[in-house]
Amino acid sequence: METITAIDKQYVAGTYGRFPVELVSGKGSILQGSDGKEYIDMGSGIGVTSFGIADDMWLAAVSAQAAKLQHTSNLYFTEPCANLAKALCEKTGMKKVFFSNSGAEANECAIKVARKYSAEKKGAGCFTVITLENSFHGRTLTTLSATGQDHYHELFQPLTPGFTHVKANDVQALEKMVAAVNPAAIMLECIQGEGGVVPLTEEFVQTAAKIAKEQDIPLIIDEVQTGNGRTGKFYAYMHYGIEPDIVSTAKGLGGGLPIGATLLSEKVQNVLGPGDHGSTYGGNPVCCAGALTVVSRMDDVFLAEVKAKSDFVFSQLADAEGVEAVTGMGLMIGIKTVKSAKDVVAACMENGVLCLTAKDKVRLLPALNIPMEVLEKAVAVIKAACK
Ligand SMILES: *Cc1c(COP(=O)(O)O)cnc(C)c1O
Repeated sequence: METITAIDKQYVAGTYGRFPVELVSGKGSILQGSDGKEYIDMGSGIGVTSFGIADDMWLAAVSAQAAKLQHTSNLYFTEPCANLAKALCEKTGMKKVFFSNSGAEANECAIKVARKYSAEKKGAGCFTVITLENSFHGRTLTTLSATGQDHYHELFQPLTPGFTHVKANDVQALEKMVAAVNPAAIMLECIQGEGGVVPLTEEFVQTAAKIAKEQDIPLIIDEVQTGNGRTGKFYAYMHYGIEPDIVSTAKGLGGGLPIGATLLSEKVQNVLGPGDHGSTYGGNPVCCAGALTVVSRMDDVFLAEVKAKSDFVFSQLADAEGVEAVTGMGLMIGIKTVKSAKDVVAACMENGVLCLTAKDKVRLLPALNIPMEVLEKAVAVIKAACK
């Protein structure tokens, strides 16, 4: 009999270095392999299944919507799309939302909005987007251009022109670049996720926001990974006391179904008009119904629980043997280990805990509702693996 692994290796494009695990089912933060082995899920599908696998509320909403109306296209109005946009605006003070299907698409929309706004205000020569070195904004050719990591670029030249990168947390470099390029946007992740779970300094983010405001440059915050409760606030920018012009998000928003959202502030809410942008699937009613169950549970009590779980993980790992540093916020955590991150993750897997890596770190993105006793078990395994 052919295994799932063998079929996949023969027929699925080889773009992923998969772990040697076939997953078949799960519940909450527990996943089950095809060999019957159970794993604690400390990655939640790269920060996507915010409330774990087959969460009751999410499952009920998604199943009911699928049975009622699974797709309409954007030629018609549907309730889940309208209500999700309303909920996102009420939680953030943003004014309008464009829905797509992924993080990269959410960023594409953000960049299009910023470029159109700036071209109309400052002329066609105003198109350059400043992003940060070591950033990650997606895999489409334009979001690859935005991504400040050369190794993603090498094989795909020429990329979309009009992007430049400055060193993260270097205020002077940012000021110099703004003066040099007449930027159409400044774009950043408050915590660089794929870049190794690196939080930006308050000084840097606040300076970027100040420059953006003074010079009327749209500030795009990429909350694809940090958003939707992941860092202990609804969006990570809320830790920094700033007001972005455009927020992109995806991953955890849908709780497991593909959705991207680009949130537009008052300043840019009407930049896109009919025909300027679109997506066949965007705002899909099943995805939006699921996302609504995620967003509607993000209240202060829930976010305080995320923070408490985060404090537990940080306190357990901060001076554990074999751990050099712990970075991140909320339940977005990077662990710099003495051993290679790859070896630690392999040892964890052997012992029934699935973790991620980001650059040279072990990365944890568990479900936000992971039960405390499950988290305790996982942390014990991770600690042992770091030794
Ligand atoms: C994952 C990620 C993206 C890309 O999202 P996709 O859904 O894979 O397109 C963009 N930005 C950040 C910060 C991410 O973490």
